Amino acid sequence: MTIYRATVLDTPESPFEGGRLRAEQDCGIAVEGGDVVDRGAFARVRAARPDDEVVDLTGGVLLPGLVDTHVHFPQVRVIGGLGMPLLDWLTECALPEEARMASVDYARGVAAEFVDGLLRAGTTTSLVFGAHFPAAVDLLFERAASVGLRIAAGLVVSDRMLRAELLTTPEQSYAEGVALAARWHGKDRLRYAVTPRFSLSTSDAMLEACAAVLRDVDGALFTSHINENGAEIDTVRGLFPEHSHYTDTYHRRGLLGPRSVLAHNVHPDDAELDLLADTGTAVAHCPSSNSALGSGLFPLRRHVERRVRVALGTDVGAGTGFSLLREGLQAYFVQSLRVPDGLPLTPAHLLYLATLAGAEALDLGEQVGDLSVGKQFDAVWIRPEDGSTLDVVLAHADDADDALAKVFALGGPADVRGVWVGGDRLR
Ligand SMILES: [Zn+2]
Repeated sequence: MTIYRATVLDTPESPFEGGRLRAEQDCGIAVEGGDVVDRGAFARVRAARPDDEVVDLTGGVLLPGLVDTHVHFPQVRVIGGLGMPLLDWLTECALPEEARMASVDYARGVAAEFVDGLLRAGTTTSLVFGAHFPAAVDLLFERAASVGLRIAAGLVVSDRMLRAELLTTPEQSYAEGVALAARWHGKDRLRYAVTPRFSLSTSDAMLEACAAVLRDVDGALFTSHINENGAEIDTVRGLFPEHSHYTDTYHRRGLLGPRSVLAHNVHPDDAELDLLADTGTAVAHCPSSNSALGSGLFPLRRHVERRVRVALGTDVGAGTGFSLLREGLQAYFVQSLRVPDGLPLTPAHLLYLATLAGAEALDLGEQVGDLSVGKQFDAVWIRPEDGSTLDVVLAHADDADDALAKVFALGGPADVRGVWVGGDRLR
């Protein structure tokens, strides 16, 4: 057994439903077999276990492992392609790079860079948009398994309106999807996610094939994109004239539910929000990407008021990096810029969105997302370099909420000093 000694901040209850930041200075967390088995004042936890090893993480703060609910494996090398709206960015920046993943050697290099990027940012759990090529998806799973991260991912499928080498058929996508799931779903910390790129690039028959994989792989997740950009939404409306709205293109095929995550949803109508709430579908809010592509200012208040579950995604490579801390800060900026209906966010909201909300969106809320007794020890130690600006402002923080605000304002991968998943130290 190991006892971790740290200042611990987490959000075991949603601040959107009255929860507050839980902050414990000089906290002891006892971990056995990867699980938190005790926590409280260090002196008490230590006295109860005088022979256990103590890991001293004093200085900085210990947070639950960060959760990224939307991030693209093949797009690491194209981060920073600024200056284009969504469909132009896809054509000119993202999809040429995605086509390079047909090369196993190329994909192997990107898989290593991608998994390393998550780890450096303190992201312990993620829902990953895979590649259009099964061999590349194998490499991603292989790498994540060898490092020890929690990842759900899958083969990205499309059968229209993308460059030819990224297209497949419903039959082939089904066969490749269930084969990938047989290799990886439920192995170590990995799960399979059925992943049509978006309705724009998937025919009815392809969405049916996705539904078949979802039915046949017990416990699989579903993920795609929705309502990101005006031109995209208009195109989808034209392609599915018999559907009442974009959300219905997924719902009609039974693709929405409590293990489904749709990215963006910047421009939903109320009927769509109600449908997402009724089905328990979560939305991955990706504020850096929305800002970089000029997609719009996310209507968080409408989601919360209509009880749609929301978590954060970095959306690398349209997003500008792997850090969920920066994503939280950007979510705060976006709400402050939404006039008059922005939802003011506290530091506790930002932490919740970056941790437990993500765990719940990925159906892992019972296992991870905070550092309560009974949960897995997934944690990130934010310990800035001595004399760095974050170090200076943390030393002058008024209280725990203020310290957490500082972490979101200034923290990043350079401040991540330790990362644990299921009690294993990965960094
Ligand atoms: Zn995306």
